[in-house]
Amino acid sequence: MSRIYNFAAGPSILPLPALEEAAKKMVDYEGTGMSLVEMSHRGKVYDKVHKETVAMAKEILSIPDDFTVLLLQGGATLQFGMIPMAFLKSGMTADYVITGSWAKKALDDAKIIGKVNVVWDGKADNYIKIPALSELKFSGNAAYVHICSNETIGGIQWQEFPDTGNVPLIADMSSEIMSRTLPWDKFSMIYAGAQKNLAPAGMTFVVIRKSFLEKARKDLPVYLRYDVHAGDDSLYNTPPTFSIWMANLNFKWINSIGGMKEIEKRRDEKAKFVYDIIDGSKGYYRCPVDVNCRSKMNIVWRLKTEDLENSFISQAEKAGLSGLKGHRSVGGCRASIYNAMPVEGAKALADFMNDFMKKNG
Ligand SMILES: *Cc1c(COP(=O)(O)O)cnc(C)c1O
Repeated sequence: MSRIYNFAAGPSILPLPALEEAAKKMVDYEGTGMSLVEMSHRGKVYDKVHKETVAMAKEILSIPDDFTVLLLQGGATLQFGMIPMAFLKSGMTADYVITGSWAKKALDDAKIIGKVNVVWDGKADNYIKIPALSELKFSGNAAYVHICSNETIGGIQWQEFPDTGNVPLIADMSSEIMSRTLPWDKFSMIYAGAQKNLAPAGMTFVVIRKSFLEKARKDLPVYLRYDVHAGDDSLYNTPPTFSIWMANLNFKWINSIGGMKEIEKRRDEKAKFVYDIIDGSKGYYRCPVDVNCRSKMNIVWRLKTEDLENSFISQAEKAGLSGLKGHRSVGGCRASIYNAMPVEGAKALADFMNDFMKKNG
């Protein structure tokens, strides 16, 4: 077997022990004579995995009891529309902070549903920074404030979260979920597509404050009703059982290494390897984003020319460092360093960057 270091933005790397465990049990799940993914989602065997997955997520992220965890489908993208449909009622306004392409996509869907207010837009600077909290002037009576906590394409990340008072704060955390402990008192809802830091594609992880959930509209098609999903423990309809099972195995792996404390320690170590090379390269590698807003999950950088970038990416690929091409909308290079990336992987990338610079200086 030869595993390479996969730096792709999503779907992305998963912990090897989780993949191995799934492979071992894929054909015959714990002596049942069938795979877990062939079983009824109404049966005891699947139910145990389902409930355990939710319980582990609550424990790892220290989610308080006044929040509900939902395991949905449709990706983060469905949440872009589902949130305004449920919470942006007529006569109300929703505040959006536009930090990059993902925040913008959420805004575009909300516009279709109701009235929006753009609190801040980083477009003029090409989305290289997160606003200072003092720059944000919220409406005060908005239905909610929406932010994207980590811009996967732009490589910027909120270091600190705004205090929106009585206005519910909602965050798209797709590319940083479970990479940091969260100040739950500030949030009413967070959500994330699974395929970046949790599991294979198929599941959407939603955490929602119960008092906020009560405000969700009920006169919607049933799948769009948060109250229905919550009332049925995310088993109203068939859940994405494979993705949920893999999330379960991923959470077990997180617990086995020491939980969030260890995740955060490794996260900092990994990001430092790469940013140190960039900062010590005397401009050979250039990270376009504001130093104070750098993402620890998605690190972006440029080289002097596109030719050099292409040669960097293809030589890295040959060296077993895959997925380093920047998003097609912005070009350049990007390393997505999610939880499952070993520290050695980030070190290998840093060493490669150093060698490449020496050879192609
Ligand atoms: C990938 C991503 C999305 C889109 O997620 P899907 O699950 O593909 O819908 C949304 N927001 C952010 C921040 C992302 O990184």
